[in-house]
Amino acid sequence: MSYFRDNIEQASGYVPGFQPQHTEVVKLNTNENPFAPSPRALQILSEMSAEQLRRYPDPLGDSFRRIAASVHGLSVDHIMCCNGGDDLLVICFRSFCAEDRAVAYPVPTYSLYPAQARLQNCPIIKVPFDSEFNLPPKLTTTQAALTIVCNPNAPSATLIAPEEMASLADELQGILLIDEAYVDFAECDCVELVKRFDNVIILRSLSKGYSLAGIRFGYAMAQPELIAGLMKVKDSYNVDAPALAVATTALQDQDYFATQVKKVKALRQELTLSMRALDFTVGDSQTNFLLAQPQGCPARTLYQELIQRNIYVRYFDDPGLDDKLRISVGTAEQNEKLILAIKAILSSRG
Ligand SMILES: *Cc1c(COP(=O)(O)O)cnc(C)c1O
Repeated sequence: MSYFRDNIEQASGYVPGFQPQHTEVVKLNTNENPFAPSPRALQILSEMSAEQLRRYPDPLGDSFRRIAASVHGLSVDHIMCCNGGDDLLVICFRSFCAEDRAVAYPVPTYSLYPAQARLQNCPIIKVPFDSEFNLPPKLTTTQAALTIVCNPNAPSATLIAPEEMASLADELQGILLIDEAYVDFAECDCVELVKRFDNVIILRSLSKGYSLAGIRFGYAMAQPELIAGLMKVKDSYNVDAPALAVATTALQDQDYFATQVKKVKALRQELTLSMRALDFTVGDSQTNFLLAQPQGCPARTLYQELIQRNIYVRYFDDPGLDDKLRISVGTAEQNEKLILAIKAILSSRG
């Protein structure tokens, strides 16, 4: 007999991408931004006072909410601060899902969704994407309490148009959570839907676009009634004072943010062309990573050979993905090392 609830005992838990502890590696496996965060944000971090650490943080993070509201053209009560975007996922599962309240999402997608669903012990309705990662029409018929669409999607790096997402929101009875963790690198977003629909929640993260995976900060955007409900479920002090100060300053520094995103997009384009020149099948990415299918060498072998050369990319041993690699866009130097290593591996195989 286990001390744990049955569903916890049976769950295997979320498996994050490997975080090598030595720094002499080319790390392109967890979609971190290769560039430094805003210097102004770093400055604020170094100026944290004893008093700021002695006291509890602002429970709602109003300084951040004000900036986010002005950046997105919403009001403060449309915003909730979270301890990383993942915190919002946990809050949504706890808020909307239960044994008789299902979650639905298109697959393949972010593997944290099933991991959280198992902890909440809710039914999971997986609706397969077609080969071009279009929005599956069946998603409207699931009767799920919570429907999650990762947009742009991971690991496909594809984007669904906001108007299609609007039709989905309109047809669903339950909540539509749009996971926009990668939207900073996409050509458009779904923020407008927050004003039009009372069942839409948008997830944002500072881990990718703002180069702040280390501080754990994300936020929700939704209509005030939904935000008020989600606030009942969150931890009372879910964002700590250093994270709040750093995130607020980083979001304020929109000029720096825009410059960094532009750099990543340019590097993404270069890397895409280099991979295609090596006969990889690579779609146009709307994120800071590529999903790339090698020719003439199994993806798993290539993944393992790259590790031998201290280069880490992501391999998923799942149907539809096990012939591909997910590669984060790195600096020009990192991308070049990757390309050279792939060339060497492919040519050594003849
Ligand atoms: C990175 C990511 C998140 C949120 O990550 P945090 O680091 O917790 O902000 C959410 N969804 C997807 C698909 C992601 O890749």
